[in-house]
Amino acid sequence: QSNSTELFNKAQNILVGGVNSPVRAFKAVGSNPFFATSGQGATVTDADNNTYTDYVLSWGPLILGHAHPVVHDAVHTALDNGASFGIPTEAEITLGELIASHINFIEKVRLVNSGTEATMSAIRLARGVTKRDLVLKVEGCYHGHVDSLLVNAGSGPTTFGTPTSPGIPTSFVESTLTVPYNDLEAVREAFTERGHEISCMILEPVPGNMGVIVPEEGYLQGLRDITKEHGSLLIFDEVMSGFRIAMGGAEERYGVSPDLITLGKVIGGGLPVGAYGGSAEIMQYLSPEGPVYQAGTLSGNPLATAAGIATLTELAKPGVLQRIEAAQTRLGAGLGEIAKEAGIPIYQTQVGSMACMFFNENPVKNYQDATISNTERFTKYFHGMLERGHYFAPSQYEAGFTSIAHTDEIIDGTLEAAKEVFATF
Ligand code: PMP
Repeated sequence: QSNSTELFNKAQNILVGGVNSPVRAFKAVGSNPFFATSGQGATVTDADNNTYTDYVLSWGPLILGHAHPVVHDAVHTALDNGASFGIPTEAEITLGELIASHINFIEKVRLVNSGTEATMSAIRLARGVTKRDLVLKVEGCYHGHVDSLLVNAGSGPTTFGTPTSPGIPTSFVESTLTVPYNDLEAVREAFTERGHEISCMILEPVPGNMGVIVPEEGYLQGLRDITKEHGSLLIFDEVMSGFRIAMGGAEERYGVSPDLITLGKVIGGGLPVGAYGGSAEIMQYLSPEGPVYQAGTLSGNPLATAAGIATLTELAKPGVLQRIEAAQTRLGAGLGEIAKEAGIPIYQTQVGSMACMFFNENPVKNYQDATISNTERFTKYFHGMLERGHYFAPSQYEAGFTSIAHTDEIIDGTLEAAKEVFATF
């Protein structure tokens, strides 16, 4: 019995399902997780001393790879000075300014501890500002485990969603409308019917939680126009795409500015951080300037801000983000050729260094399209790659990431393994 199996058995006695977050349980691929012991650059090592090339990277944050010296040293120095104060520190200003220096429309930010906290708070703020209750979300977009956003809604535009989780009051669910991604007509309909009640529309401008999906030409601009026309706020949830698809996020990549943005993952460099931001006019509704309450004992934590500042500073150096994207492009191009040779139909998507290979013969433009992917093939691919030392997210509906540590040599090693795996199909 492997050490990871032994640890997982032990974990199940004390942690629910053996994990502290469900996706880690490897349920979608019918196996058990490995237990990590260390990470270095592009690789993660498990309790049995297996080393994997890591395309999950803690689900996105480790854009500089594991244990990058600059991040390591920054956190070390911060720790020497004390782990938390609960009163302001200069590093909070520095991280806030860094974020705002890259994302044009941001004038003010609030730091929190997770992506979930950021989206929950942004929605409260949008409701407080507009004095409206409804939220419009996009089917298949994930915004953390916020009550009113855990709505599944397979049943088409403007109908009331159903909660994906028991424990969410019906009234919360009823205040969430859903539309399919890449469908402007559905958004127009929703606003025609209930526009005067809709506080905000929230979406991942580049979705990464139904696999990665690319916004069609004009989609994001269309959302900007419709929300503006109805006095609703547009919220881009860039917890995953922020500082990954561009330093300036979707605003830079697509030229569309939302009213609010939510961030997480990369801005914390692997430590627990989230943030939300927007114009001073909107953000001033937040306590202590305004009436909308939101607070946090550990918000702006010195270790987290140190890791975030180090990560964003390193990323902003010329060519760094382009190199990380090029690694993903090299991987995608190679996988495309290998699948073609093997005669296995796939549909590939990539924006920046986020990418997905759907085992799907048709284009994937929304959640509905994504769900008809061949998950049996995915599972076979996942296990084949893991056995050969290459770790991809244990679900068809997740994004893959590269980091600055993913060299051409490393990518080519993964492609060699993929060739072997596709040959077994
Ligand atoms: N929004 C998006 C787009 C995400 O990808 C995630 C996490 N995968 C979240 C919000 C929630 O962030 P967290 O897990 O830090 O609460």
